Amino acid sequence: MTAQHIPVLRLVALERAFHQGTREIHVLAGASIDVWAGQCVALVGPSGSGKSTLLHIAGLLETPDSGHVVVAGRDCGTLDDHARTLIRRTDMGFIYQFHQLLPEFSAMENVAIPQMILGRSRREGEERARKLLSALGLADRLDHRPAQLSGGEQQRTAICRALANRPRLILADEPTGNLDPHTSELVFQELIGLFRSEGVAALIATHNLDLARRMDRVVILDRGLLVEISPNQI
Ligand code: ADP
Ligand code: MG
Repeated sequence: MTAQHIPVLRLVALERAFHQGTREIHVLAGASIDVWAGQCVALVGPSGSGKSTLLHIAGLLETPDSGHVVVAGRDCGTLDDHARTLIRRTDMGFIYQFHQLLPEFSAMENVAIPQMILGRSRREGEERARKLLSALGLADRLDHRPAQLSGGEQQRTAICRALANRPRLILADEPTGNLDPHTSELVFQELIGLFRSEGVAALIATHNLDLARRMDRVVILDRGLLVEISPNQI
């Protein structure tokens, strides 16, 4: 079998409950999905429906009560911390609502450093950083530190950082949720364009249905289950 025949991410019957006082809330109650290379999948659902919980589990930051996370054919449930960290570093890129860039470093360095951590030379790292940042219109901002960038520019830099190591999978939690509607729209368009040109699979939590309907697929987190709907139905 080639990689094309294996989903990049397979979530199988995930369950996760939290205790609140004497109550138990079943945030995930059998959530399943296959995400394939090149697909952008919107994960929608109201606040509190469990989107972040699902992304934390898919990103191997938390373990489910039951169910499986399979990344490129590899079941991650039985892996030790070291193996999980390696998969997170090499196969996954993360984007959060707040950029979480390193404040002391330039945009270029923020995108180059994760590559250098995996053993690439500074020159190679900076070459890819320049290419990614230029693709998002930041060619004139390479030497700016995060505080010298606008909110939209910070988030564009965070998108480039997530792609730096050529991950198979991007997990994004409300990546434009902190931007004004106009900038959010622009950055979201660019993000989808760059994901498509990089051929990466992406699972993107958003409560913005206008943005969700631009994606290849839409899944709703509803009472702990993932329900797929057609993007033009929303
Ligand atoms: P969303 O990202 O869709 O807003 P979350 O995944 O953050 O939803 O939260 C889903 C539900 O799980 C919420 O009711 C939240 O309060 C609860 N929850 C999330 N994490 C924890 C935790 N660590 N302990 C207790 N409850 C939690
Ligand atoms: Mg959330």
